[in-house]
Amino acid sequence: MVASTLVAMLCAHLLCFSGMFLLISRRLPGNRMGMDYFAVGNLLLALAYILQLAEGGPAWSVMSVINHILTLAAPIAYWLGAMRFFGRQVPLWRPLILFAVAYGVLQCLVQWNAGPTARYAMLAAMATALFFAMTLTVIYGVRTFAKDLYGEMVFFALLISGICVLNALKFLKIVDDGLDALHMDSRFQMIFYIYMSTLATIVPPSIVWLVLRRLTDSLRNMAARDPMTNLLNRRGLVDALKQHFSSRNPGPVRLLLLDVDHFKRINDTHGHQAGDAVICQVADLLRFNVRRGDLTGRIGGEEFVAVSLDADGNSAIHLAERLRTSIESQAINVADAGDPLRCTVTIGISPPFYGAQGLEDALRQADAALYRGKTAGRNRIESAIAHASACAEPVQQ
Ligand code: GH3
Ligand code: MG
Ligand code: MG
Repeated sequence: MVASTLVAMLCAHLLCFSGMFLLISRRLPGNRMGMDYFAVGNLLLALAYILQLAEGGPAWSVMSVINHILTLAAPIAYWLGAMRFFGRQVPLWRPLILFAVAYGVLQCLVQWNAGPTARYAMLAAMATALFFAMTLTVIYGVRTFAKDLYGEMVFFALLISGICVLNALKFLKIVDDGLDALHMDSRFQMIFYIYMSTLATIVPPSIVWLVLRRLTDSLRNMAARDPMTNLLNRRGLVDALKQHFSSRNPGPVRLLLLDVDHFKRINDTHGHQAGDAVICQVADLLRFNVRRGDLTGRIGGEEFVAVSLDADGNSAIHLAERLRTSIESQAINVADAGDPLRCTVTIGISPPFYGAQGLEDALRQADAALYRGKTAGRNRIESAIAHASACAEPVQQ
């Protein structure tokens, strides 16, 4: 009786969250972060438990065959949903229908050849294998595709491995005690249903949290990046610099300000679209040439910055020279423009600075250096420090 009440509550929980997942999925674009698949998974599991309540105990019937199929189809739907959450395009209904047909046939074969105990043992063994594979996938995810969700993935791995262990124990019990092991009010079944009810309480809000985290992360990312080039915007630069300077022993940073030479001409001669292609190409070269960890941003129409972290003056000049020559030598193919376009940049380098609040001043000084580079003929590098020491020389004499 207690076990039946637990299962009934479990069903109510699963159905409520199935509806909630479906509503959330309707608000999400694209692959809906797999929420529609999670809704189906919850629905299938709830149906499996409803059939179990209707059956009362182990039996050989169409209802029982469907119950076993649903019991395994639900975790498969969750698995596919998780793949969608991590950006894989996987279908839902085809694998589920294929599985349902194959497992239905397998159940008939096992029932006729080895009897009912073997069919129930097979369900527990299949569930063990499935949850074991899921646990391994989650552990693999912690090291690869889900590195940013370390805590959450470890938590899920623990919960899933719990179901895996319980199903393995259920398998052993069925092998030992036969179908008596499945009596609804047996001690083991009680523990099993209490664990499943606990999971039904913990897992759905955790999934909602994952979606919320992904959404807020992507909002933060959108607010910090320029949509055309995906480089950091001014706000993103400030945030990234704050992060750098809050790390242990941060070194000084130097800022390179790049401005495409005679960009108006490119727009006027080849059109705005060609100008956009040039901007994207310069952004790619910027990303490609900086050191790992350095920051790259676009702060105006054709004005870019590279922020060299923990670099001395010489490395900043080398980086500037590398950028200047690679942009100068790059041919840019633009549709309808005939021959490939070429462009050059002038670069101003700021003095070193030691805090995120130094960004505006560094930009001002790099801009003054850039302006000198423009008036001196463009396609060149000017350093604010070299100019300051040149200006200081007469005073020292
Ligand atoms: P200089 O060598 O002195 O830098 O000359 P310039 O022609 O590059 O002059 P300036 O830097 O002032 O030119 C900026 C131009 O960039 C003006 C504006 O029309 C164009 N622009 C700004 N944003 C965009 C954009 O997103 N796409 C395109 N195609 N053009 C843009
Ligand atoms: Mg400009
Ligand atoms: Mg320009």
